[in-house]
Amino acid sequence: MALEAHNRFVHEAAVEIGIPLRAQDEVECRHCAVHCEKVVHPGACIRMGCPFVYAYEAWGRTYMGCLQKVFDVEIDLSLLEAAETELGGFGAVRARRSPLPMCEVEVVPCYRSREDELGCRNPEFHELPRERASFRVFARVSDVS
Ligand code: SF4
Ligand code: SF4
Repeated sequence: MALEAHNRFVHEAAVEIGIPLRAQDEVECRHCAVHCEKVVHPGACIRMGCPFVYAYEAWGRTYMGCLQKVFDVEIDLSLLEAAETELGGFGAVRARRSPLPMCEVEVVPCYRSREDELGCRNPEFHELPRERASFRVFARVSDVS
């Protein structure tokens, strides 16, 4: 019971000051001046044969998308496949909801030039995918004489 009360207190305090309770589930972060977003690589969805890929034909073209709506754009499949054979591949599109464990995602800062010496102030946002190590260690080196 004491633990429940403590958890409720932490939850309410976090909500009050706007801290994300599960940063892993956020698709964007605005907790410093950098502005980061999660993006997903649709080329990987095809490569891995994800069962949530759907496709349909319209106007003589085939379009693909994600049934889970991790990304919500529909992409011309032939253009996607052609781009995947080139250097750099098709690239990424914005994640619209929390990625699933198999999604190929990354965190992209919108304003890399605004990053400062502190690095990321919300390191959990960069902990993708969830199966990997979920912490970072920062070392502060100081002179002890
Ligand atoms: S669930 Fe993830 S891997 Fe599967 S289609 Fe959607 S974005 Fe791609
Ligand atoms: S650098 Fe870190 S704290 Fe800043 S917006 Fe990106 S994820 Fe959030």
